[in-house]
Formats: sequence, C-alpha cells, structure tokens
Amino acid sequence: MVELMVEGKRTDGRGPYDLRPLKLDVGIVKNAAGSAYIEHGKNKIIAAIYGPRDIHRYGLTVERATIRCRYHMSPFSTDERKAPQPSRREIEISKVIRDALEPSLLLENFPKTSIDIFIEVLQADGGSRSASITAASVALADAGIPMRDLVQAVAVGKVNGTLVVDLSDIEDKEGEADLPVAFMLNENKITLLQMDGKMTVEEFKTAINMAKEAAAKIKEMQKQALVSKYFGQGGQTR
Ligand code: ADP
Repeated sequence: MVELMVEGKRTDGRGPYDLRPLKLDVGIVKNAAGSAYIEHGKNKIIAAIYGPRDIHRYGLTVERATIRCRYHMSPFSTDERKAPQPSRREIEISKVIRDALEPSLLLENFPKTSIDIFIEVLQADGGSRSASITAASVALADAGIPMRDLVQAVAVGKVNGTLVVDLSDIEDKEGEADLPVAFMLNENKITLLQMDGKMTVEEFKTAINMAKEAAAKIKEMQKQALVSKYFGQGGQTR
C-alpha cells in the first residue's frame, strides 16, 4: 500500500479538508462567446463556449438549446503522451460534464440552437473532470447564458482509511475511493455523482458533506473571477 497519509498530512502537506490551490481567469479566448482558464492543483484547463448558434439538423430538440460538450486531453497533458484521438474515457467525461452543467442552464430561452462547450486539458493532475466543470460553468456565465446557479465540482476520496477533499493525481490513482460530485448549491442539487472504489454508507454521507463545503469555497472563487473580469479587482465598474 502506498503511504498517502502520514501524521494527518497528505503527500503534498495538505490536511484532509484542504483544497489544492485554485486560480480562475475569465474571458481568455478572444474568438469564443465565453471562456475560462482554471489551474486547480497541477491541472491546467481551458473551457470555451460557442453559441447559442442556430441549428437546423434533423433530430435535435427544437424547444430549447442543445448542449454539446467535448472534453479533450492534449497529448502533452499526461506523463505519457496521450493519443490525440478521443478515448472512451474522454467520450464518457464529455457526457458527464454536459449532464452536470445542463440542469443549471435556461435552455428554453434559446430554441433551435446549440451551445457548444469545448474543454482542452493542457495538463492533467487528477480531478480534471471536476476542474473542467468548475471552469465551464464560469465560461457559460461569461458567454451570457442565463443560469439558475453556477456549478462547481470536487472529488472526495478515501486514502489510507481517511476521507480527504480534492484528490491529487496520486490519491486518485492509489487511494481506496474517488467520489467526484458537482453541485448547484442555490437549489441544493447534485448534478454529477460518480464513484470508483468503496466507502461505507456513513463515509459516503460524510464525503458528500465534505464535498459540499468545498464546493461553497470554489463557488466564491468562481464569483470572484467573474467580478474581477466585469467590475475590476475590487468589484468596481471599470
Ligand atoms: P479525473 O481527471 O477526472 O480524475 P480519471 O480519474 O479518469 O479522471 O483520471 C485521473 C488522472 O489520471 C487524470 O487526471 C490524469 O492525470 C490521468 N490520466 C487519465 N487518462 C490518462 C491517459 N490516457 N494517460 C495518462 N494519464 C492519464
């Protein structure tokens, strides 16, 4: 077993409740309707939004906007070169990210359109799906898509028998459980829930509460990033 917890500290010195450093920038891609760049731990991810754009394709929903999402890892994002074509994992993550964001958006405002979410992982460090959701929700707000609430995600896991928030890459790979959760806190809703590994029911309940507390902290950073872009650092109109 890999030692992931020594005297209450994790391999990177964090306590069980500590998030990795998180930085968010809004509006970094000129040609997108909205965009965000996130550094969460060593994850470096760009989310860019196109749309709402008119679509006239048979089979697409006409009453509201259709969300399409592509999560892509660049070949240089992982320790070993990743093949550039979409893997099964990327296809799955694209779907769960779309499902995590969709309930937050007022899609009925944009009938017969598509809203495209492009996510490029430049560097991956465990929890890249969670960081992608956090960034994409901010990018959607930057694109001016009306929403019920910002969505943010974080993984809680179990390492050497201890529940910890915001798994790093090694904790993700070597830990006993990995539970990524996304929230719409205003509505007290969970929009993503996946689990690898095992937890007891009690641990699961505690883990959800830990994730919720972490999500509240991340939401403040999302709001601050948007305020910085639109009103300058101090929240004043530019
Ligand atoms: P998440 O990034 O959401 O935690 P996973 O649990 O599937 O997603 O992956 C954990 C980590 O494993 C990723 O963040 C990345 O660092 C690494 N990883 C994923 N896919 C590959 C790959 N094809 N090659 C090398 N490393 C990968």
